[in-house]
Amino acid sequence: MKAAVVQAFGEPLVIEERPDPEPGPGQVRIRVEACGLCHTDIHAAHGDWPVKPNPPFVPGHEGVGLVEKLGEGVTHLTVGQRVAVPWLGKACGRCEHCLSGWETLCEQQINTGYGCDGGYAEKMLAWADFAQRVPEGVTAFDAAPLTCAGVTTYKALKVADVKPTQLVAISGVGGLGHLALQYAKIAGATVAAIDVTDDKLELATELGADIVIDARKQDVGAELKRHGGAHAAIALAVNPAAFEAVNSGLRRGGKLVMVAMPAHGTIQVPIFDTVLNGTSVIGSIVGTRQDLAEVFQLHAAGRTKVIYETRPLVSVNDSIDAVLRAEIQARIVFDLGAGS
Ligand code: NAD
Ligand code: ZN
Ligand code: ZN
Repeated sequence: MKAAVVQAFGEPLVIEERPDPEPGPGQVRIRVEACGLCHTDIHAAHGDWPVKPNPPFVPGHEGVGLVEKLGEGVTHLTVGQRVAVPWLGKACGRCEHCLSGWETLCEQQINTGYGCDGGYAEKMLAWADFAQRVPEGVTAFDAAPLTCAGVTTYKALKVADVKPTQLVAISGVGGLGHLALQYAKIAGATVAAIDVTDDKLELATELGADIVIDARKQDVGAELKRHGGAHAAIALAVNPAAFEAVNSGLRRGGKLVMVAMPAHGTIQVPIFDTVLNGTSVIGSIVGTRQDLAEVFQLHAAGRTKVIYETRPLVSVNDSIDAVLRAEIQARIVFDLGAGS
């Protein structure tokens, strides 16, 4: 099978021929149909974060495909079923976090495409208990971006506890942001979408944004305040200054939800304003299996639209450059060929 491999941080990925991986107990092997390119994969390939993966590794945590082989003890999946393999590859199932519905905080979790090989490959392994069934009628190409971009932003909006009368700022209308905007609309909120490219601002309008703010030309904080201030701001732009800009546009009691993870990212949070205005800063990491099930349910019901372009895996390095230059509409999804 072919796989795109990070051999060293910051180097181009290499397409390698590898033997098909053998599923261990509790695992399944999947013939990958599609895998989205999440900006996290770029951070992984660049070694951007304090906790780093160990090269060589195969990135990709939006892999979707057909179960091909069952490991020992797997009883609830069958060969041929379509499943998605999210960032939360495995959690312990026994700790305080797992038991309280916060498996995403499990300290023993293994992350797909980071702590084990991911979906930039024709075949991949998954722990069966964490592979999510994709409902009938949802294509592999739609399911792929939902598997991280979807579940992460759906969860961020839950964390923000958005209400129908509220103003929500979506900072960055990329892979994550184009779905965040739709979940905020589903929650009934008024949405202000912020980006720095004309294409993304147009996309935001098409997807139903009520207010569109061009961070190149407009003062984001002042614009949000002009509309009364945001009850919640979901920070999805890979740029610390963008976090500070939306934080300054919160209304009293507002919440900044940090989701993007720029390399060496830190922001200045003014103590006086935070105390006086009673605002909060909250981190939000992906979502649980139940969150992903809900994301698929919404999509199967026709309530979300996934914007993507497909590319072959051999274009992986050009595709990464295109994402870094913000030249794509929302998401690149690699076509691994298994569907044809
Ligand atoms: P992306 O590159 O598709 O989207 C980023 C968007 O931000 C682009 O549309 C870009 O034009 C826009 N942008 C850039 N500068 C801006 C600015 N100053 N103001 C407003 N918008 C600006 O990336 P993505 O795949 O959506 O991922 C975004 C980030 O989220 C990455 O750092 C990724 O690692 C992180 N992420 C976090 C989680 C989590 O669980 N917390 C999950 C997935 C991804
Ligand atoms: Zn991701
Ligand atoms: Zn745990």
